Amino acid sequence: MCVLITRRAGRRRNCVASRVRGRGASQLNSTGDREVTVSKIRIYQLAKELSIDTSDMLEVLDNMGVAYKSHASTLDEETAAAVLELINEQRGLEAKRQKEQAWQALPHRAPVVAIMGHVDHGKTSLLDYLRKSHIADKEAGGITQHIGAFEVETKGGRVVFIDTPGHEAFTSIRERGAKVADIAVVVIAADDGIMPQTKEAIAHAKAADIPILFAVSKIDLPSANLEKVNNDLMREGLVPEAFGGDVVVAPISSKTGEGIPNLLDTLLLMAEMEDLRADPGADPVGVIVESRLDRQAGVLVTIIVQQGAFSVGDYLVAGESWGKIKAMITADGARVKSTGPSTPVQILGFSGMPVAGEQVEWVPDDQVAKEIAAEGRNERAVQEVEEADKHRIRSMADLLHSMQGSQKKEINLVLRCDAQGSLEAIRGVLARESTDEVEIKILLAAIGAPTEADILLASTAQAAIFAFGVNPSGPVKKAAEYKRVVLKSFRVIYDLIDEIGAMVKGETEPEYREEQIGQAEVRALFKLPKGGVVAGCMVVSGKITRSAKARVLRGKEEIWRGSIEDLKRFKDDVREVAQGYECGIRLAGFDDFKVGDIVEATQLVEVLES
Ligand code: GDP
Repeated sequence: MCVLITRRAGRRRNCVASRVRGRGASQLNSTGDREVTVSKIRIYQLAKELSIDTSDMLEVLDNMGVAYKSHASTLDEETAAAVLELINEQRGLEAKRQKEQAWQALPHRAPVVAIMGHVDHGKTSLLDYLRKSHIADKEAGGITQHIGAFEVETKGGRVVFIDTPGHEAFTSIRERGAKVADIAVVVIAADDGIMPQTKEAIAHAKAADIPILFAVSKIDLPSANLEKVNNDLMREGLVPEAFGGDVVVAPISSKTGEGIPNLLDTLLLMAEMEDLRADPGADPVGVIVESRLDRQAGVLVTIIVQQGAFSVGDYLVAGESWGKIKAMITADGARVKSTGPSTPVQILGFSGMPVAGEQVEWVPDDQVAKEIAAEGRNERAVQEVEEADKHRIRSMADLLHSMQGSQKKEINLVLRCDAQGSLEAIRGVLARESTDEVEIKILLAAIGAPTEADILLASTAQAAIFAFGVNPSGPVKKAAEYKRVVLKSFRVIYDLIDEIGAMVKGETEPEYREEQIGQAEVRALFKLPKGGVVAGCMVVSGKITRSAKARVLRGKEEIWRGSIEDLKRFKDDVREVAQGYECGIRLAGFDDFKVGDIVEATQLVEVLES
């Protein structure tokens, strides 16, 4: 007989024999910490190893139809494996049931709602109406302030609204992987119907896998046409409840308030269907919805708590920023000492400016907070380069997308003009520039200089931004550069038309420059038995990636240029190594390293004009 148990020290009581190595037992799933290798085993021994009563074990054997004389009888390897499998299975089911039960025992939490939709369809008006009608009249003593999110109290429960209309907030938060909103309200003006940004909003909500409520706004207008909106929805494959489908539509007016109580009730109903719950006793976790610098108060950060409760005096960390909560203020201006799930609060006490969408977590002390924030800085260095890679548009020709299902290509454009007249003129010209093979698609045409929201839109939809007679601001240009969005300004309409013509013909040749992505210092040399040298390096800035080009610098002099053959962390091949970490680098065709050399990783980046 052979029973071999490996387990983590000190956890034996809670352990479950989880995996059996032996004949006929390889498919068992792993749910615990221990590995048990069984060949033959007595019944009472197996029961002991599995931490169950011998009598229970005998019952299992009876149910399985296994014959035995007494609890001292020996089970053969195959039977022992089958018993283990059954018990693990039962334990798995039990664990699942308990988890489900524990979830059901948790209290419900308020839904967090994001409002999206086409420009001028009434997002801001709806938010204003909700804010004014539901929180301004509170006697909390504070002045209602914009903190990025607010709560609405109704008889049926609380609803939290993210206070930035449009998809910017939603997309930038989602870009970081955080799912902050539980429900999307897509506003459609009853006198206008579905417009391009409505479709984008729907796409964003669908990508986030959250339910949508369509709020048909401006129903007080004589030109309101609810039927047209319903038909528009049908055309998008969205069948409204009124037509027997499951798409929720709520007609509203933010002028008169009509339909708004119904909108709130519907949101609560949808939340109920989603079974939103949170553990108020769990380690506190939240998400950053806004962060800004106030001249007097310093860094003001709004978070929505997702789990647990944050209290004044707690340490927290988000990305590369950390802080100690000095004070917490709600949207209606009240100072609170502690705050639970689905509650937006503005926090005073952050040392840096965390970014919207970052997770914020509770940490026990400032030491841990600083350490995690430093790790966050490192991760960002890596992410920034990845981000740039991801959004890199290598040439204008790359802006041509093949449309699904047909050979036709399309160029997505965001158009910004100085006046309605020029906008219409350019629109007309562009319509004529489309050919049988290439369609020019205007995602957004608007008056005024390009905004950072345009950059986000262009970046997600792989569009170029053309500005006519308007100048993008410095931050907008920077954002375009960072996101690698093509942003071009024109003063003469013919230049714009020529550019489009060139894009359509795919004639624009990209220009490239070499960009450094990181440097590693050679600290030690390792000769390989089969020849070749691995340079033991420390990444001193940026990151080194396996796919990058490399140059070797000795002092100021470049002594070699080529590509990376191998990049390793310890024994493992890795794709990249970030600043502050050691790695082994082998170059393709260069072994004459000296300690102190710098290996520089570079990549080619298109020079983007603006
Ligand atoms: P947003 O761009 O989607 O935020 O749209 P706004 O909330 O700024 O609204 C655009 C215009 O529509 C403004 O002039 C509002 O006053 C008007 N508006 C918004 N909602 C309603 C409504 O329910 N009824 C009427 N009559 N006008 C509305």
